[in-house]
Amino acid sequence: MLALQGDVREHARMVAASGGIPSEVRTPTDLEGIDALIIPGGESTTIGRLATLYGLVDPLRSRISDGLPTLGTCAGMIFLASEVTGGDQPLLGALDMVVERNAFGRQNESFECDLAVDGWEYAFPAVFIRAPVVDRTAPDIEVLASHNGRPVLVRKDHVMACAFHPELTGDDRVHRMLIDLVG
Ligand code: GLN
Repeated sequence: MLALQGDVREHARMVAASGGIPSEVRTPTDLEGIDALIIPGGESTTIGRLATLYGLVDPLRSRISDGLPTLGTCAGMIFLASEVTGGDQPLLGALDMVVERNAFGRQNESFECDLAVDGWEYAFPAVFIRAPVVDRTAPDIEVLASHNGRPVLVRKDHVMACAFHPELTGDDRVHRMLIDLVG
């Protein structure tokens, strides 16, 4: 997990429960030893600012474009995007899509829903907390789930992102999808 800010511990618990070995990335050296990356939820502006400060932006871009299986959740989804509507913050641009921050409602409007995901037998209990709305995706981005007509789980090759918080549920299917991408 990128461990600059956000709910790193919840992801660590989920990674361990889905058969992975969690480790924390704070420096470019930490990045060298991992097989998959999770960018947690939190505040994307803070994560971007700290990643810039720690010299992680370019190393992250190059490891991700070299094929590192990556999952960004909520703020992590924003950090992976190529553009934030009306925003100016460091982004990795690993997914060619435009997102709008806090657009599914503010903190006190957080909500949960049963989400149908392409190819999954039963719904995923998705928790949304000041979630980003995806306004536009490039044609090569696969939309695996939508809520209110907006993509909330997307994937392009080895890079996945979701607007909700799979680490806050007891359902490890999103995390297992990432672990399955490790060759
Ligand atoms: N609103 C946050 C942001 O813009 C994301 C919220 C979250 O990760 N729960 O970065």
